[in-house]
Amino acid sequence: MALKTPEQYEESLRKMNFKIYLMGELVKNWVDNPIIRPSLNSVKMTYALAQKPEYEDLMTATSHLTGKKVNRFTHLHQSTEDLVKKVKMQRLLGQQTASCFQRCVGMDAMNAVDSTTYEMDQKLGTKYHERFINFLKMVQEEDLTVDGAMTDVKGDRSLAPHQQADPDLYVHVVEKNDKGIVVRGAKAHQTGAVNSHWILVMPTVAMGKDDADYAVSFVCPADEKGIFYIYGRQSCDTRKLEGGTIDVGNAQFGGHEALMVFDNVFIPWENVLMCGETEFSGMLVERFAGYHRQSYGGCKVGVGDVLIGAAALAADYNGAAKASHVKDKLIEMTHLNETLFSCGIACSAQGHKTASGTYLIDLLLANVCKQNVTRFPYEICRLAEDIAGGMMVTMASEKDFKNPELGKVLEKYLKGTANVSCEDRARVMRLVENLTLGTAAVGYRTESMHGAGSPQAQRIMIARQGNLEQKKNLAKNIAGIKEEKKA
Ligand code: SF4
Ligand code: FE
Repeated sequence: MALKTPEQYEESLRKMNFKIYLMGELVKNWVDNPIIRPSLNSVKMTYALAQKPEYEDLMTATSHLTGKKVNRFTHLHQSTEDLVKKVKMQRLLGQQTASCFQRCVGMDAMNAVDSTTYEMDQKLGTKYHERFINFLKMVQEEDLTVDGAMTDVKGDRSLAPHQQADPDLYVHVVEKNDKGIVVRGAKAHQTGAVNSHWILVMPTVAMGKDDADYAVSFVCPADEKGIFYIYGRQSCDTRKLEGGTIDVGNAQFGGHEALMVFDNVFIPWENVLMCGETEFSGMLVERFAGYHRQSYGGCKVGVGDVLIGAAALAADYNGAAKASHVKDKLIEMTHLNETLFSCGIACSAQGHKTASGTYLIDLLLANVCKQNVTRFPYEICRLAEDIAGGMMVTMASEKDFKNPELGKVLEKYLKGTANVSCEDRARVMRLVENLTLGTAAVGYRTESMHGAGSPQAQRIMIARQGNLEQKKNLAKNIAGIKEEKKA
């Protein structure tokens, strides 16, 4: 098959056997559920764009394993050009969906697991890489969506996994036998979990010897026996149940996160990719996080493009587009957004080949990229709200607009410029609301802060990668300090 059509993707999800709880109830039809559906549409777009000749170069790649054309989301980066194309693909998808399209976590996890298992096997004589490659061949051939599952729930953050009062606060091995392992625990904030076919689980922190049971990585079907999901709420999500298209802001697309619970799940050995090798958990975390921090220099920029466009439209419809301060704010938003893109491109262009042949981004620049993402989208949101005006949060509902009596009143009093319909003005206001405060704000705003690691995680990496000693030597050289003498 190698490339699934969007329709085949949707059908494949219908055949899954998920156990999903949403607002306290078990969901029977997750594909058509109005709260979940927009997030499925976003992932579907990763299949739809791959079918279009104009996007073939960005959306597809040639598998280094089979020579076949595959979706780029299932590809291992074979060059810095591949890394750059990945970021451009993510910007494109952000522009087309104005939301989180979820499929990147699996791509980032697979790239990180590839190089880590290769190096682990070289050092320890284990056999994980071959298992991973077998899995990857299936993913490429069937064009699967994989959820990369890293973030444990973590309990008391001051304690290591094995020190927690409840041993299940990090996913861990509870049983081992000749057929495989049994795991228990939960992964939080799992992006796109119930739109995925398979899950690739990884440890969440660097670990010491006492945490051996927690240094576990494996793949399993997303609907495996013993796995269930508790679907996360998003701001304004129940507007999707009202049946309209205006008040939701973005009626077609969205993202989702869920709590993924492993209730004694059996994993056969052929699907286990790390089991007790604590010295490699840090490498896996660092590489996955690095790739996902690069990703944000693409996806958030694409969503930022839509938000800048929405703010500019709001200014047009309000009759404020010619005001010099509005023009300047739009310039500032563009400057911030393109700075993020520059970071995404820079860490890709400066990437290098790892021992397995897969290319890794420049980790320092990827962390700088994400650190900027924890700040700039907030400023872009602030400026968008400034330009849009208070109407984006005080406006009457779609039902009021549709009421024969009230509609006339609203048409009269909520009009902006005379040549623009009140409905169009309402639509753009709701889009700004959606991106800054509504369901998409999860993916654009708060995820910019915490997704791919909270800001402090990047600062730790920046400190580690920043090479302060080399900088001191540069300064000594220029200052003429040959050997430091005691005063
Ligand atoms: Fe992809 Fe961005 Fe969503 Fe992460 S936050 S899965 S990079 S769209
Ligand atoms: Fe994310």
